[in-house]
Amino acid sequence: MKNERSTQLFEKAKNYFPGGVNSPVRAFRSVGGTPLFIEKGKGSHIWDADGNEYIDYCCSWGPLILGHANDKVLNAVDKTMRNGTSFGAPTQLENELAELILGNNPFIEKIRFVSSGTEAVMSAVRLARGFTKRNKILKFEGCYHGHTDSLLVKAGSGLVTFGNTSSAGVPESFVNETIVVSLNNKKAVEEAFSQFHEQIACVIIEPIPANNGLLLQDRDYLQFLRDICTKNGTLLLFDEVISGFRIGFTGAAGYYNIKPDIITYGKIIGGGFPVGAYGASKEIMSCISPDGDVYQAGTLSGNPVAMSAGIAQLSECLKPNFYKDLETKTQKLVNGLSELRTNNFKLFSIGSIFWIAFTEKEKIQCAEDIDADSMKHFRTLYHNLLEKGIYTGPSGYEVGFVSEALSNEDIDRTIATFKESL
Ligand SMILES: *Cc1c(COP(=O)(O)O)cnc(C)c1O
Repeated sequence: MKNERSTQLFEKAKNYFPGGVNSPVRAFRSVGGTPLFIEKGKGSHIWDADGNEYIDYCCSWGPLILGHANDKVLNAVDKTMRNGTSFGAPTQLENELAELILGNNPFIEKIRFVSSGTEAVMSAVRLARGFTKRNKILKFEGCYHGHTDSLLVKAGSGLVTFGNTSSAGVPESFVNETIVVSLNNKKAVEEAFSQFHEQIACVIIEPIPANNGLLLQDRDYLQFLRDICTKNGTLLLFDEVISGFRIGFTGAAGYYNIKPDIITYGKIIGGGFPVGAYGASKEIMSCISPDGDVYQAGTLSGNPVAMSAGIAQLSECLKPNFYKDLETKTQKLVNGLSELRTNNFKLFSIGSIFWIAFTEKEKIQCAEDIDADSMKHFRTLYHNLLEKGIYTGPSGYEVGFVSEALSNEDIDRTIATFKESL
């Protein structure tokens, strides 16, 4: 595998950007080596600056559920942008995307578009605080919610802890409003509510935690969170930036049939463009400005080009059997790979999300159950796969995504390549 050009570009980028990148995981620090500079993508494949071709299971970290450069998305974007790219005034396209979502999702009644998942979560937490007139929030170790201050916290030692900042620059006083507990632990949540029951504005969770391995929770646990929130006047916030439109059109809320009070979206919603959103009941959403006194705004919010990409992509997702076919495809891949039981290699999956792990455990449901030492196996496997034309996110804590564009041939080649590499 040649990588002269990527290496050159990376050396240059280091002069411009911290770590040579505009988002840290791209720097390949957790697997070592030089990140690939990507030149183009089509369908399930990408090509790097040295001309190497890969089957792509990163899919831009999830947004590209139809694969790269989908013709329907490209045509929609092309048509829209020829009439101008942004107005800072309402356009019909915002209505269209909202109708598409709200008309097919019984869990939210109103929505607000923003420009990233981080922004969606930040705004949703403010909304929860504004609605409940409470300050504290409860999050789970092992869930990622973007880089907003109050969520860049990790658990201390103990059942219920105020978070320690997981980033410099986050004031101690901010994280003192964030309670952190382990996933899959009812006792910790009960304990937190008994200490702070009238202070907790919201419980925020990735209902399908997929940013720190794939830590699938039991439905029973999510229902427990629903019940304890209702009992305490606390809002349940599902961060569905990954799971929304991925595990079916109605995301994890639909999959588990549990109604949260607020849902955040991102990634798939924008068809590969920067879009995030949050939605809730009419009552809760009426707190948002200009109707209510929770302020939130955005110069490029509801951007017409991004809206048309979202409309084009989500329209495909709404076609009959879209998710069923995607899951069948993923099962074929996962079953094939699961037969390769070498070195404790194992796959965890749901819908079209999969996670590669090296473990003897049959279930991994909280961050503490991931063996950090096992990541050395992932690093070795990673470079082996890369050399043979398989691209996934460059960290053993990241999940893989299957797109509609993935072919049977891709799947067969992937399984054969894993077999050699393992
Ligand atoms: C990706 C992600 C975010 C952050 O979204 P950005 O668009 O990267 O800001 C938030 N929450 C979850 C669950 C995510 O997967």
